[in-house]
Amino acid sequence: MNIILFGPPGAGKGTQAKLICKKYKLDHISTGDILRNEISKGSELGLAAKKIMDSGNLVSDEIIIDIIKVRLSENKKSNIDFLLDGFPRSINQANLLSKIMNELEISLNSAILIDVEQSVLINRILNRKNTEGRDDDSEEVLASRLKVYYDQTAPLIQFYKDLNLLKWVNGVGEINDINQQINSIMEQL
Ligand code: AMP
Repeated sequence: MNIILFGPPGAGKGTQAKLICKKYKLDHISTGDILRNEISKGSELGLAAKKIMDSGNLVSDEIIIDIIKVRLSENKKSNIDFLLDGFPRSINQANLLSKIMNELEISLNSAILIDVEQSVLINRILNRKNTEGRDDDSEEVLASRLKVYYDQTAPLIQFYKDLNLLKWVNGVGEINDINQQINSIMEQL
């Protein structure tokens, strides 16, 4: 099964992605984690991405698409299914993903939205700053990340609805309850 997990910043995508990937043996592809890893290695890509990430904006599609292309091709060779966490982030990225998947002759089974209202997100992210210390979890950057989500990523809801691939999960509640909602979706795919 090849899955997209998406939702606003602070919806709990990372936590749920880890649980689902473990249970269903999927490759967890988190573009945010890949970029943070490049930053910690001090690579050229990391240096280019850091400034943009710290401002809460999206890094260029070219950078992200190269990362995705390589990873999906490797998975195809090894016959491994995957979960995309943090990609696609815009309609353009979703179209580019369709193109890559068509070329590799693999298909998408579902795009699962973890939905959380804005006021809950703000509290969660400010708490995460205390526990994880992410540079982009400050109050100022949060406003810009939320705006980027609602302007650029939220249109994916209609995009995947039109393709009959959208599944909706209520992301407010206990981690286990949210995980069960996702598991029952996975069982029906
Ligand atoms: P995340 O960990 O998914 O919240 O991503 C952290 C930051 O990495 C984002 O705010 C973006 O700056 C960058 N990023 C992650 N994924 C993407 C993507 N698919 N397209 C563009 N930028 C991304």
